[in-house]
Amino acid sequence: MIRIKNKTECCGCGACVQICPVRCISMREDAEGFAYPHADADACTGCGLCEKVCPVAVRRPERAPLRTLAARNTDETVRSVSSSGGIFLPLARKVIRMGGVVFGARFGDDGDVFHDFTADEDGLYAFTGSKYVQSMIGESYVRARDFLRKGRPVLFTGTQCQIKGLRLFLMKDWDNLYTADILCHGVPSPAVWRAYLNAAVCPPSSAVAGPADGPLEISFRDKSRGWKNYRVVIRSQGREVLNEAHSDNLYMRMYLADLMLRPSCHECRAKDGRSGSDLTIADFWGIDRLMPALDDDGGTGLILINSSKGVSLFQDALKDGAEQAEVRIDAARPFNGGFQPERHVPAGRRRFFRRFAAGKEDIMRLFSDTLNPTPAVRLWLSFVHRLRKRTGRLFDAL
Ligand SMILES: Cc1cc2nc3c(=O)[nH]c(=O)nc-3n(C[C@H](O)[C@H](O)[C@H](O)COP(=O)(O)OP(=O)(O)OC[C@H]3O[C@@H](n4cnc5c(N)ncnc54)[C@H](O)[C@@H]3O)c2cc1C
Ligand code: SF4
Ligand code: SF4
Ligand code: SF4
Repeated sequence: MIRIKNKTECCGCGACVQICPVRCISMREDAEGFAYPHADADACTGCGLCEKVCPVAVRRPERAPLRTLAARNTDETVRSVSSSGGIFLPLARKVIRMGGVVFGARFGDDGDVFHDFTADEDGLYAFTGSKYVQSMIGESYVRARDFLRKGRPVLFTGTQCQIKGLRLFLMKDWDNLYTADILCHGVPSPAVWRAYLNAAVCPPSSAVAGPADGPLEISFRDKSRGWKNYRVVIRSQGREVLNEAHSDNLYMRMYLADLMLRPSCHECRAKDGRSGSDLTIADFWGIDRLMPALDDDGGTGLILINSSKGVSLFQDALKDGAEQAEVRIDAARPFNGGFQPERHVPAGRRRFFRRFAAGKEDIMRLFSDTLNPTPAVRLWLSFVHRLRKRTGRLFDAL
């Protein structure tokens, strides 16, 4: 039976919940707002399946990609709605045209992020663009297995740990399964996102329409002023309620400073080919230095093709629709934090989540305090942090 003793030992993929034959595991949010599995010991039969499918417990060897490419979609409309080179959409369209189904992460009307599927090309637009929140997988692995059993081609997309979880859950290779993961340096807490969204969309002194007034349109990676200087834009009922450069946006600053990542993201066990995906898609940061001819600041993707199935899907989907060039992965790695499996835990993380869990403070104020601690707080944090690091207790007692 699965028991999480250390928060780094669970990435929240939900594979254990979905494999349990007696369905005695459920996911519950902890005080930080990340979901963890809880098993009902009375109902558990001790079959051990939950441990066999866990992408954190099961170790896999590193795997080098077969090919690494810089690529950008030549369709500017597609690239503009995508976070980097617009490579996800043609891959997904190809699978739908084969009679298949595509799984990906989308926003709900209230801004929550969850996994869903579609067999309709128009439905794919909900999956485009990065959502910087952990996506709730729900019953997606079960649904994907149902389609696979019926012989439908399936493209499953998600973070590297979600793909590793899916592959373990499925327990065998399926010829009709394609997997593409996004290179990911970590996911923030859904509860922090909800609190932020609420404060950003319905500030206390504002009459601006809030989530209850209609679906929100959210872009974490608006490219209207360039891919590198992307902006966070939120619209409610067609009206813009937020439009900020990512470097000014408090939520993105907290995220990019690693102050609100899931504990497992600081010790990721799904990177370097361990997820078993056919393709890995990333932003090609550093393209302006390495291959300036492929950088127009509209977004260029870095594509790791990990399997022969990935080679054929990529070629079939993008043979005429992308500018591409081979690149050495070692040249691209240093520009991209998403490749690092170990991420330093910043000193202010624990204090931030303790104050967040207490629920007494305005989230914007809490973000500002965390990002700009006073010199005395900074000194205290660094002392406590060093002490906790020495005793190996960075994530307990949350
Ligand atoms: C949380 C997160 C962290 C990332 N960190 C990095 C990084 O450190 N370095 C880097 O190079 N790239 C990172 N990316 C990936 C990058 O931003 C692009 O998503 C990727 O390059 C694909 O771009 P695209 O233009 O081809 O397609 P896009 O249309 O931008 O990508 C859409 C794909 O992203 C998936 N997706 C979106 N949000 C989520 C989510 N919350 N959970 C699971 N899947 C999601 C969709 O299912 C779909 O498959 C991150 C993405 C996310 C969501
Ligand atoms: S050991 Fe088997 S029955 Fe018990 S929680 Fe795990 S999967 Fe469920
Ligand atoms: S990582 Fe996934 S399978 Fe493992 S315990 Fe967490 S939710 Fe369950
Ligand atoms: S960093 Fe690793 S553990 Fe965290 S969401 Fe990404 S793939 Fe999963």
